[in-house]
Amino acid sequence: MQGPLLTSLTDDLDRNAVRVGDVTLTRGELLGAAAVVADAVVGRDVVAVNGSASMETVVAVVGALLAGVPVVPLPADAGRAERDYVLSDSGAQMWLCAPGCAIESGLGTHEVDITARADAPTVEPDPSDIGIILYTSGTTGRPKGVRLPRRALAASIDGLADAWDWTSDDTVVHGLPLFHIHGLVLGMIGPLRVGSPLIHTVRPTPAAYAAAGGSLYFGVPTVWSRVCDDPESARALSSARLIVSGSAPLPVPVFEKLTELTGKPPVERYGMSETVITVSIRADGERRPGWVGHPIAGVSTRIRGEDGRLAPHDGETLGELELAGPTLFDGYLGNPEATAEVMTDDGWFRTGDIAAIDPDGFHRIAGRESVDMIKSGGYRIGAGEIEHILLSYPGVREAAVVGVPDDDLGQRIVAFVVGDVERPDDLIDAVAKDLSVHKRPREIRVVDGLPRNAMGKVQKKALLEGA
Ligand code: ATP
Ligand code: MG
Repeated sequence: MQGPLLTSLTDDLDRNAVRVGDVTLTRGELLGAAAVVADAVVGRDVVAVNGSASMETVVAVVGALLAGVPVVPLPADAGRAERDYVLSDSGAQMWLCAPGCAIESGLGTHEVDITARADAPTVEPDPSDIGIILYTSGTTGRPKGVRLPRRALAASIDGLADAWDWTSDDTVVHGLPLFHIHGLVLGMIGPLRVGSPLIHTVRPTPAAYAAAGGSLYFGVPTVWSRVCDDPESARALSSARLIVSGSAPLPVPVFEKLTELTGKPPVERYGMSETVITVSIRADGERRPGWVGHPIAGVSTRIRGEDGRLAPHDGETLGELELAGPTLFDGYLGNPEATAEVMTDDGWFRTGDIAAIDPDGFHRIAGRESVDMIKSGGYRIGAGEIEHILLSYPGVREAAVVGVPDDDLGQRIVAFVVGDVERPDDLIDAVAKDLSVHKRPREIRVVDGLPRNAMGKVQKKALLEGA
């Protein structure tokens, strides 16, 4: 790692660092306000921050990072039980929030004043110190506290800066939540490290993205799908340098529509809380819809086949993606058993995602080992392949495929689709023309919407429960 984490904050102090909604702070102002937080938290073991989409969250996180105190961001709209779980699991000793957002808890509270100023404390955290403890999305189970060393955050951001030619000349735009890897680490710590001003639009709406006028745009697939539904806003993004998608698979029709409307084929990248962002299409590289590109500098990848052996990189063979490199986490908080389960004997991380790598090193993510690998009639079938075909039919706007327990087949393929589909059986017939018999959904249910979490990820567990 080169230098401290938030490298850009200490020079050119009059340059804008961050705008959230209509509040802007220069680097010097952000540093001064964050230093007040740093004074309040220094010496604690762990602090928690209310991760609302606000300048207070930015100042609080930067303050904790300056003080070298691990910070746990909570979803701003977390329910009581979810919040209590994260606060007690993490052992947080203090609650940082905007004025008026104190909560009932046994913790000390620090209300962040973004107009206050102090001198930064002279703490020099080590690259191996934990910067952030991030709770996973809970897509596949109860959220786990991921301990991320400062070195991992820096290595991922530096690797992406290299892949995307990302410099302080860029202006980053997004409106993603500030309590996940995407919005918080890539979207907030990223710009502060690279030195590119950040415009956070509070909500990731097409109109807000269009009005911001930046060069580097971040969003989850749902955001890009909405942008496609608003051609006027989409066209405004044609002046962007790079449109980046991640957190969930970007459907190929969205890739194509966005390319058509903006003239900018989006760049897809892949990552997760435990590894930060590790694989991406490069700014000057080939854009292949449905593929997420190459590992960033320092990261190595391999595919573990079903037989437990390493699989060939032929672009076809699917297996579990394993990763090694400087961006890896430092274990799940208080859960060495869960950590041991995801690490191989030779120190690689098992992502739980199914992927293929082609001979050029391009990566394709086919879904999750736990829910997207359907075992039906003795076959292993990737849900993503069927979703991909369903989405190519006129009228189908969203699709999610699950394997429902079945006495005869082991699992029975059921597809949930959103869109104008009058006769689901016709759709099954149409799919049958494109896929082998064992991949054909037994049932297609037309629904008003798919259950998604804050990052736009389909909650397949919820779908299965209702199936
Ligand atoms: P939990 O671990 O609690 O089940 P989660 O895995 O959804 O939750 P995150 O760490 O926020 O929590 O998400 C990482 C996951 O998101 C990856 O493992 C992968 O399945 C998915 N993902 C991220 N980017 C992409 C992408 N570009 N294409 C496909 N999937 C992606
Ligand atoms: Mg996960």
